[in-house]
Amino acid sequence: MGEVHFVGAGPGAVDLITLRGKMLLERADVLIYTGSLVNPLLLDFTKETCVTHNSACLTLDEVIDRMAEAVSRDLEVVRLHTGDPSLYGAIREQIDRLNRLGIAWDICPGVSSFCAAAAALGVELTLPSVSQSVIITRYQGHTGVPASESPASLAVHGSTMVFFLSASLLDTIAADLISSGSYSVDTPAAIVYKASWAEQKVLRGTLGTLHEMAQSSGITKTALVLVGKVLGTEYALSRLYAPDFSTAYRQGSASVPKADTKKEDL
Ligand code: SAH
Repeated sequence: MGEVHFVGAGPGAVDLITLRGKMLLERADVLIYTGSLVNPLLLDFTKETCVTHNSACLTLDEVIDRMAEAVSRDLEVVRLHTGDPSLYGAIREQIDRLNRLGIAWDICPGVSSFCAAAAALGVELTLPSVSQSVIITRYQGHTGVPASESPASLAVHGSTMVFFLSASLLDTIAADLISSGSYSVDTPAAIVYKASWAEQKVLRGTLGTLHEMAQSSGITKTALVLVGKVLGTEYALSRLYAPDFSTAYRQGSASVPKADTKKEDL
């Protein structure tokens, strides 16, 4: 019996797939890829005999049928999802069906688009004294969002927020976050379109200018919205690299109580 490998394609740039992901693509007999978002140049890694299907044109049943048919002929299947498959990848429903059919599967992680967006912006999403949490979320679309996770309620934390699948709702994002009281019109915000692709666009501004940023660029999809003071200029230095801080690897210049040298104190 063959197997099904769920593979993270990375955010778009062909050289941002993992070495393992590339190897699995090279070995694949059947490839089912998310045509709406995966860079088609990644298909060049497959062998000539590989049969490819664009899942954008298929239902869940049709995807599973193709997997089951290939595996029964002892063929290797790659299911290629954009970014990392664990985020908005709809892999759970496929995995449960494969389990019921007794088909072996595994997951090869990928570089999520939010990591590529942070790289494009040149930022660290977790800055000491500013935010040590990243909330990855989305607005409701065809897929619902639990009421307890409404962006407005998540906003009370004032942490770094990354919005997937919401680039057409910039007014709502700004209004919800500002009304939470944890962000202001001046809170830094950015839109990153097609992070890591040749067409990448990076727009920086504030919650107050999000709308006009999108209007002037015409961006409505394949973009992430990042919000938070980590996009600004204020932060504290890390403890890890402070001269007076001792760790298991480095003796600090001043005497630091042992209790302060725990690994968690990064
Ligand atoms: N699993 C993917 C997300 C799939 S959901 C990941 O880890 O990145 C699809 C949404 O992801 C898009 O609507 C967009 O919001 C975002 N997205 C995917 N690729 C992107 C890219 N290269 N640049 C910016 N946003 C991207």
